[in-house]
Amino acid sequence: MEPIHVTLPDGKVQEVPKGTTPADIARRISPRLADAALVARVASPNDGAGELIDLRSPLDRDVKLQILTEKDPDALFVFRHSAAHLLAAAVMELYPNVKLGIGPPIDTGFFYEFLRDEPFTLDDLAKIEAKMHELAAQDLPNERKLIPKPEALELYKKSNQVFKCELVQEKAVEPIVSFYTTGKFIDFCRGPHIPSTKRIQAFKLMSVAGAYWKGQEGNPQLQRIYAACFFTQKELDEYLHRLEEAKRRDHRKLGTELDRDLQPGNPPRPAAPADAVARLEHQHAASGAHELGGGGEPRGAGPDDDEALSKRVAYGNGYSFSCGMAFAMASKSRSL
Ligand SMILES: [Zn+2]
Repeated sequence: MEPIHVTLPDGKVQEVPKGTTPADIARRISPRLADAALVARVASPNDGAGELIDLRSPLDRDVKLQILTEKDPDALFVFRHSAAHLLAAAVMELYPNVKLGIGPPIDTGFFYEFLRDEPFTLDDLAKIEAKMHELAAQDLPNERKLIPKPEALELYKKSNQVFKCELVQEKAVEPIVSFYTTGKFIDFCRGPHIPSTKRIQAFKLMSVAGAYWKGQEGNPQLQRIYAACFFTQKELDEYLHRLEEAKRRDHRKLGTELDRDLQPGNPPRPAAPADAVARLEHQHAASGAHELGGGGEPRGAGPDDDEALSKRVAYGNGYSFSCGMAFAMASKSRSL
């Protein structure tokens, strides 16, 4: 097989057969790196920017290659995106009739949107979280599948996934559409993803918020399940601790203000308690400390929400991890 040249960050060049994957290269470098690898960044030899690709993507030309591990913040977004797929996989197992919206990574974790007649309760969230841990422990691979657009539409029509159908119609500009499977779950998605589910352990489902499909009033209202997600349990615990602290500070501040208002001689503030309560609600929502309305994201979703979100998830060269919102790509533009 024709050789290609892969330049590593230290400047060393490996000559490898065409079709070698970043995972193969990681293994050649060290078993430890192969184990820690999450995703790869490739760039053409003359271009610095590059793009993120799966560790299993075959390389078919000379590239600069970087293997990303937990040390790289970009890998965290990919990790959280894969965790969003895990959430959807768990929800589909437990509630097979839900309709799927989008599921991008966000600043402190990820969310996924679902249409379901009944609201998700705290009990449901606990069940979903347990199912996610169960699936994660099965070490399910995240595998890319390229499907012709008509078949992709058929797949979603058959399963009555109306929103996904809409996304494929609108976003898939190439004749071949990119999907990812995680066990039995399949999702219209550009990727990339981490290799499998086993490393997704430090997450917590935080809240459910209503969100109009595509952020447009009048569209069906979906339920967004928000989750906090980090590489390690320690980071997750620290984040949850910070949220608790913020909540406590809000309570203390409110208590002091109410005490002062109730002192004899102080003129009564009209509607002080209602005002204060409203402020507390607001602070909780803003700090993400509200029990069913936080997660580090504003409650609910206005028309601007998706726009703001897509700005946040936009990555690198306009790269978006937003599941299904990202453009599908033909095989020729993906395999490097
Ligand atoms: Zn996705």
